[in-house]
Amino acid sequence: MKPVTRIAPSPTGFLHVGTAHTALYNWLFARKHGGKFILRIEDTDIKRSDSAMSDVIIESLKWLGLEWDEGPYFQSDKFPVYKKYAKELLQNKSAYYCYCTPKELEERKKEAISQKKTRKYDRKCFNLSDAEKKRFENRPKAIRFFIPDGKVSFEDGLHNKVERDSQDIEDFVILKSDGTPSYNLACVVDDHELGITNVIRGEDHLVNTFKQILLYKAFGWKPPEFVHHPMILGTDRSKLSKRHGAVSVLDYKKQGILPEALVNFLALLGWSPGDDREIMSREELIDLFSLDRLSLTASVFDIKKLEWMNGEYIKKLSDEELLDRILALTVNCQLLTVNKEYMLKIVNILKPRMQRLTDFGKFSGYFFEDPTQYESEGVDKYFKLPEVQRRLTLVKDRFSELKEFNVEAIESAIRELASELGIKAALLIHPIRLALTGKTGGPSLFHIVEILGKEAVIRRLKKALLFLKELK
Ligand code: GLU
Repeated sequence: MKPVTRIAPSPTGFLHVGTAHTALYNWLFARKHGGKFILRIEDTDIKRSDSAMSDVIIESLKWLGLEWDEGPYFQSDKFPVYKKYAKELLQNKSAYYCYCTPKELEERKKEAISQKKTRKYDRKCFNLSDAEKKRFENRPKAIRFFIPDGKVSFEDGLHNKVERDSQDIEDFVILKSDGTPSYNLACVVDDHELGITNVIRGEDHLVNTFKQILLYKAFGWKPPEFVHHPMILGTDRSKLSKRHGAVSVLDYKKQGILPEALVNFLALLGWSPGDDREIMSREELIDLFSLDRLSLTASVFDIKKLEWMNGEYIKKLSDEELLDRILALTVNCQLLTVNKEYMLKIVNILKPRMQRLTDFGKFSGYFFEDPTQYESEGVDKYFKLPEVQRRLTLVKDRFSELKEFNVEAIESAIRELASELGIKAALLIHPIRLALTGKTGGPSLFHIVEILGKEAVIRRLKKALLFLKELK
């Protein structure tokens, strides 16, 4: 039987990387076995759900390339269906009406806590007499599931047999008094109706799964196979949250992370191919993925590792492709007016140093504008060298004389001058770099000089010489 999996986000916020992680495992499992992956939007909580968030979730999954075979299905389109199923449970005595108001529930809970009793629902409405039921007839009523005595257990693909005493589970609401279903009812109904065979989700849902197993039993349906994977942790080993940095998938997009890098990175947060391979294409991931290799221990979201991996993916892109991605991300009209050939040269030289697409903006400023200041550390180190003024003047003159202004000619001009002066080439290279870029570090200077071109180079050297004059 081909597996059918799903991702079922609630549109109460952006697509969290944790949900993307779960989506990825479901997607990989379905793709690996030639099955189906379904997108279901769990928007039954009318107050907290937002259709704009559904759009963002859809956009995020598309950006990650986790395409779905069916859906998106919206649970809000199916309210009558859930109601029908809730009534079915009423009829077979697996559920009962509850007339308690939120205020009453709150008061009784408080009382129970003060008396150190269980905080579970006290089954007041299950025990109502017919006369009492009549008295409450005009109240809004919810439907609660009756938890039968005994133990609830299931085989989890990762945790093996998990069991819970039903005494620890309260008679939960399946249909709220406003007629909307609770998560557990809607989830079970839909997983059943959509023929979901495997539910892969975070460990935080283990508590729900016991309730869902009971619902499957009450309906007489076969439950899917469950796998509850560990949650992603932040660097302090608590559950990943905003405190740790960006958690929304689109934030990573905005911050210059490539979707293929994020997918690769997320895949390895709790799964391994069985060897120490780290960079894996989508096809390799599908090929290698197996639920057996999921880890029981939670993984830490290490942003440094993501950046490293992103850098590796950036290096694999052609200059053209990388430029397209940079331009798609940076809505910078100024960049768009720059000659493409010039841009490609800069992309080529910066590529090995980029870990994010946004690094292009950070590293490339001096290719577009003459430096307006020089790093002060560089000024102390290189602009105060003996003879620096005379040396830079000689460099300027040599550069002016060059017929071919290319890397080879530039490099030999500098090296020849250094040997004529009887100094190391570095004693020229560092001050030239500072003069041309304002910085003490960066890619190969000879390439920078070539890309900037003779005119800009001479102009910048002259400017630096004026600055040096003032410095004295
Ligand atoms: N809407 C739930 C969530 O976003 C779905 C959980 C599930 O996979 O069943 O956590």
